[in-house]
Amino acid sequence: MKIGVYVCECGSNIASTVDVEAIVEQAKEFPNVEVSRVYKYMCSDPGQEIIKKDIEEKQLDRIVVAACSPRMHEPTFRAVIEDKGLNPYVLEMVNIREQVSWVHENKKDGTEKAASLLKGAVLRSALMQPLEKKKVGVTHKALVIGGGIAGIQAALDLADMGFKTTLVEKTSSIGGKMAQMDKTFPTLDCSQCILSPKMVDVSRHPNIELLSLSEVVEVDGYVGNFKVKIKRNPRYVIEDKCTLCDDCVPVCPVIEHDEYNQGFAPRRAIYIAYPQAIPASYVIDPDACLGIDPLICAKCRDVCGPEAIDFDMQPKIIEDEFGAIILATGYETYPIEKIGEYGYGTIPDVISGLDFERIISSGGPTGGKILRPSDATVPKTVVFIHCAGSRDPSKHLPYCSKVCCMYSTKHALQYKHVVHDGTAINFYIDIRTGGKDYEEFYQRAAEEDHVIYLRGKVSELFQDGDKILIKGADTLSGETVELHADLVVLATGMIPSEGTKEMASLLNVSVGINGFIREAHPKLKPVDTAIAGVFVAGTVTGPKDIPETVSNASGAASRAAGILSQDELEIEGTVAKVEESLCRGCGLCGEACPYSAIELETVNRYGHTMQVAFVNEAMCKGCGSCAAACLNGAINQLGYTDGQILALISALGEE
Ligand SMILES: Cc1cc2nc3c(=O)[nH]c(=O)nc-3n(C[C@H](O)[C@H](O)[C@H](O)COP(=O)(O)OP(=O)(O)OC[C@H]3O[C@@H](n4cnc5c(N)ncnc54)[C@H](O)[C@@H]3O)c2cc1C
Repeated sequence: MKIGVYVCECGSNIASTVDVEAIVEQAKEFPNVEVSRVYKYMCSDPGQEIIKKDIEEKQLDRIVVAACSPRMHEPTFRAVIEDKGLNPYVLEMVNIREQVSWVHENKKDGTEKAASLLKGAVLRSALMQPLEKKKVGVTHKALVIGGGIAGIQAALDLADMGFKTTLVEKTSSIGGKMAQMDKTFPTLDCSQCILSPKMVDVSRHPNIELLSLSEVVEVDGYVGNFKVKIKRNPRYVIEDKCTLCDDCVPVCPVIEHDEYNQGFAPRRAIYIAYPQAIPASYVIDPDACLGIDPLICAKCRDVCGPEAIDFDMQPKIIEDEFGAIILATGYETYPIEKIGEYGYGTIPDVISGLDFERIISSGGPTGGKILRPSDATVPKTVVFIHCAGSRDPSKHLPYCSKVCCMYSTKHALQYKHVVHDGTAINFYIDIRTGGKDYEEFYQRAAEEDHVIYLRGKVSELFQDGDKILIKGADTLSGETVELHADLVVLATGMIPSEGTKEMASLLNVSVGINGFIREAHPKLKPVDTAIAGVFVAGTVTGPKDIPETVSNASGAASRAAGILSQDELEIEGTVAKVEESLCRGCGLCGEACPYSAIELETVNRYGHTMQVAFVNEAMCKGCGSCAAACLNGAINQLGYTDGQILALISALGEE
């Protein structure tokens, strides 16, 4: 056994708090150490050359590098030793920067700690064994779940790169919330005008299979090889046959609230979500229709020229395989009825931001005229209340949803553009305009369009005759404020969409404290999850505006393409290994595994049927939870066996 020890000064990062020369000299006395050296930047080209030269000339078979965190340079040094024919897993890194020099001020303490960590690493490295990297094949097909702007962008990007992509959307049309919007800040361009060309591209793209009215119900497998079951609910209208002639709608006797128009308009039981909907086909609402089991009415079927209506359609389970998955199931707005003090549901002219989007839309229930829900008159004073249910940890959401200041400003501007002599008042806590051209948009609203901004907090709303009385505090003057308005618009924040928790558990990804999906790293891996091959796009991870959602989705698509473009993926050698003769099939390891990589398998041994743990190496991340949980010591974490860890510990605290 010949061990080479290499200590890095990292400029003065390490050398200022650790006496590197001293620990290099000490290391020469550690068992099996053939050579011990120091260099200013071990990760630099000359530093790497020093190691390579020694491996060749001194026939080293284990390498210890004392430098920064292995998160930074373990791959660098593994590549160095691999280049000289050594197995990459016989490298041991000692973190004497983040764990020593950066956390110690006293050089004596730092040097002592570095020396004992280094000794432990040398002892451990003598027990290290070469490990094998396994390879798995890749299915070159992607699954995108959720057809809002995030899912649409991700699917289009992947499809344009040449990958077959299935886009699963639970409602009857893709488009998500952006399809409900009238105009978008900060440019005030029409939302449908920029969204619908993308939706049409989805429907026409030869590489995209669009499954509307569908939901993922089961996910199995691992990166490159996910096996997925998708439940496709019946549309009761054959998409290819429907010509959108509209003959079916007037004969339908059932009237329902139109969800797309936030309930401000009616729809029939047979309907199309909105004119630009994709798939471009009518759909029957099975809960409202009188034709689906039992068949009481078939008026739409009777008048349908192309015979597109089929009341006998049944749900289908589609099974398919995918190399990568992008989750883009979006958000909901905070349930406004939870903010009891604001009177939503009891005061008819208190509405939500999304309600206002539909009321002001030229394609909406009032044809773009701003009318009060109570009496269809034009409101002369409109109050927009920011942070309705947000930044209120004691009662509602603790966080800021980023878009509400901007969309309330947009709404106030839109109102002033329609009702020129009207008064728009924005009641805000702080104005947050972090985005390109956002501050200018707000300044324009305040200065040129005379939108009034009042800093304060609204405490309560009351119906007062045909007006709404708003009571609050002006936090700049310290005075209480009482205002009368004709219409109040509540800017509610974003919460995770319904079913996010269930989806997280299907995909085995975790959710954060506010219920949004947790990224692998909020800064450095914002579109990855802890599960290899599962990515996230858009508001499924937290509040975002459209530009951020779109770039996030393109990021997720390109990360997924990194997997889909390979024929084989390498699986790390540091995985868990079961010693079958010691395993008693208790299943504790499977329960401890955060990656669902362990299952119990029934085997026949010594004439007996028994259960033993089986590790799916492609799913194992080498975290060691199973090895710690196993009561029989039947699982070893390759690269971190008990012997190796004990050797490491034995040196700690030695004088
Ligand atoms: C009132 C209001 C006004 C706004 N105005 C602007 C603006 O002017 N400019 C701007 O930049 N941003 C604006 N925003 C923000 C904007 O709405 C979001 O940035 C954007 O819609 C996020 O898109 P998404 O795809 O992440 O989510 P969503 O639009 O929520 O799309 C998610 C999709 O996933 C589907 N889905 C959900 N669960 C499942 C499931 N289990 N299986 C399959 N499909 C599923 C949903 O049906 C939906 O189609 C506004 C937000 C609000 C509330």
